[in-house]
Amino acid sequence: MAGLKRVYMGSAVILTYHMVVDRETYSRALNPLRRSMVTLERFEEQIRFLSRRFRVISMDELGEAIKGGGSESYAVVTFDDGYRSTINNALPVLARHSVPAIFYLTTSFMDEERLWWLEAHDAIRKGARISVKGRDFRCPAGDAEQMERVLHEVIMLGSASAEGQEEVKNALRDCGAPPSAEAMRWDDARLLSGEPLAAIGGHTHRHLILAGLSEGEARAEVYLSKQRLEEELDMPVRHLAYPFGGAAHAGKREFAVAAEGFDTAVTMRRAGVHYEHQRQMHALPRYPVMQRDTPLLLGARLSGLEAFIKHRGRRVVI
Ligand SMILES: [Zn+2]
Repeated sequence: MAGLKRVYMGSAVILTYHMVVDRETYSRALNPLRRSMVTLERFEEQIRFLSRRFRVISMDELGEAIKGGGSESYAVVTFDDGYRSTINNALPVLARHSVPAIFYLTTSFMDEERLWWLEAHDAIRKGARISVKGRDFRCPAGDAEQMERVLHEVIMLGSASAEGQEEVKNALRDCGAPPSAEAMRWDDARLLSGEPLAAIGGHTHRHLILAGLSEGEARAEVYLSKQRLEEELDMPVRHLAYPFGGAAHAGKREFAVAAEGFDTAVTMRRAGVHYEHQRQMHALPRYPVMQRDTPLLLGARLSGLEAFIKHRGRRVVI
C-alpha cells in the first residue's frame, strides 16, 4: 500500500494558506476572500494533523527531500499575499507544533501600506458605490450573492493590468475606503523574517496576472519584488509564488522567468510533488487548504488520488 500510495501522492505535498482569522471575521467575509480563510481553531487542527502525518520541512529543504526517494512523506506549509493575521494568529500555532512555513509577500502592499482587495471587500459589504471608468460597482447591502459577484469583478479588474489596478485603487480612495488593518507593513515583514521557523518568498510587486502582461512587464513584477524584499529585509529571497497560479495565470514563459533568479516557484496546480519535479522546480504544484478541511478530508485530498485521476496518471502537470 505504501508503494502504491507513493505513485499518486508523490514524495511531498505543498499546502497553501492565506488568512487565519477568528470565527466572526470568517462568518462575515464574502467570497472569494472567504474561501482563502481558515479559522484559528481549524488551522490548529490541520497543523497538528500535518505534523503527525508528515515530516514538515522548509522550502529550502524540498529539493533534497524529493531526490531521496525514501519512504518518508514530506510537507511544506506556505502562506500567500502578506496578511498581518498570519503573524498574530498563525505564527504561534506553527511555533507550538515546531512547523516551519514560508510567507510569500506582495511588495506593493507593504510599500503602500494598503491592500486594495480587502478595502474593496469592506466597501462592498457596507454598500458603498465604487466607480471605475464610469462604471458603478454597487449593490444593496445584504444581498450576499450579488455582493460576492461584484467583489469578484473588482478583484479581476484590479488584477488584469497595472492601469486597471490603479483605477480600482483610485476609486476606493474616492469612495473613502480606509486602509485595511490586515495589510502587512515592512515592520511586520522584518519581524516575520527574524522568526526561526519563517522564511520569506516573493509574490511579485503588484499581484497582477503575469500571463496577461508582456514578458518585460512580467519580469519587472517578479524581480522588483525580489529586489524590494532583499533591500528591506537584508536577506536573499530564493523562492517565488505566482499570483493566482492557475494554468491561465502562469505558464512556461513565467516558469522560465522565475528560473532566472529563484531556486523554486509554486503554482496552484493541485497535485503532489514527485521525484520528477527535480527538473520542474519552477512549476511546483500546491494544494489549497480550506475551512471545510477537517483532518480527515485534508488527509484524503493530500493522498493525491483525486489529482492523479484528474490528471490521468500524469505525475508532473504543467
Ligand atoms: Zn496571492
